[in-house]
Amino acid sequence: VTTPLVERLVVVGLGLIGGSFAKGLRARGVCREVVGVDLDPQARRMAVKLGVVDRCEERLAAACEGADVIMLAVPILAMERVLGELARLDLGDAVLTDAGSAKGNVVRAADAAFGGVPARFVPGHPIAGSEQSGVEAANGELFKRHKVILTPLPQTDAVALQRVDQLWRELGADVEHMQVEHHDQVLAATSHLPHLLAFGLVDSLAKRNENLEIFRYAAGGFRDFTRIAGSDPVMWHDIFLANREAVLRTLDVFRDDLDALRDAVDAGDGHHLLGVFTRARVAREHFS
Ligand code: NAD
Repeated sequence: VTTPLVERLVVVGLGLIGGSFAKGLRARGVCREVVGVDLDPQARRMAVKLGVVDRCEERLAAACEGADVIMLAVPILAMERVLGELARLDLGDAVLTDAGSAKGNVVRAADAAFGGVPARFVPGHPIAGSEQSGVEAANGELFKRHKVILTPLPQTDAVALQRVDQLWRELGADVEHMQVEHHDQVLAATSHLPHLLAFGLVDSLAKRNENLEIFRYAAGGFRDFTRIAGSDPVMWHDIFLANREAVLRTLDVFRDDLDALRDAVDAGDGHHLLGVFTRARVAREHFS
């Protein structure tokens, strides 16, 4: 019998991400005990019933007693409150990490709560998910072959970082380290902007078409492009409030390019259109 890597893992927020993290590590025997915390009693009951955690606590203080690793997987806008509560507890030398989709705001919240970002806080973001949410959707294989970005700060403790890194690797994830600002800019461009466009396009068409009749003619391209408009509206509203500056930068650049495309259509500038479409196709082939 191998010794577990972690004696007691605490997962705060038993939704898709927290539930999947807990379930995957528990299934692999990486932790001696996995304790869940959630505001929602139904989520706590389901988490135990589905074998996502060993036990649940309603209160953070009771759950975090004797914890080695604490994973925060609550909605981004709830991070500030949870970090504030954690700062009032004696966490011993527990490693603290999170899974929030934007990093700058979580790091700022940790800074404010603890009066300086603790060395044992390792900010992180798994680039995996689905259109589903809640503990029922928890899947221990969700992170397999997906990237997880950790955004350590200069003061981050090397042992804490290695611990969090190792837990994600146990789940089959491909872990990378990046600076906080770089993470937020990259994600604004590759994830947040596309979600804004998909939500925006579907809404723009829907609100002008009573009975949503127009979508009967939607072909594969429209379906592919707008799949992500089926994502959780509350989570995405959180992300745009949390990553405002980086989103605005990438949105303004894109808006200039969209204006240029509009001008090309208006002017019948086939050269411009062909240039954009050809470059895009080459780029797309590069990553697909
Ligand atoms: P979710 O809605 O499925 O689950 C969130 C859970 O947190 C819920 O069970 C809710 O009851 C609980 N909760 C809310 N406030 C709480 C509090 N103060 N204390 C304790 N529990 C609380 O959300 P999710 O999709 O699992 O997302 C969790 C985090 O992971 C978010 O920060 C999100 O940005 C990030 N994330 C999500 C995805 C994704 O695709 N879903 C991907 C990567 C990262």
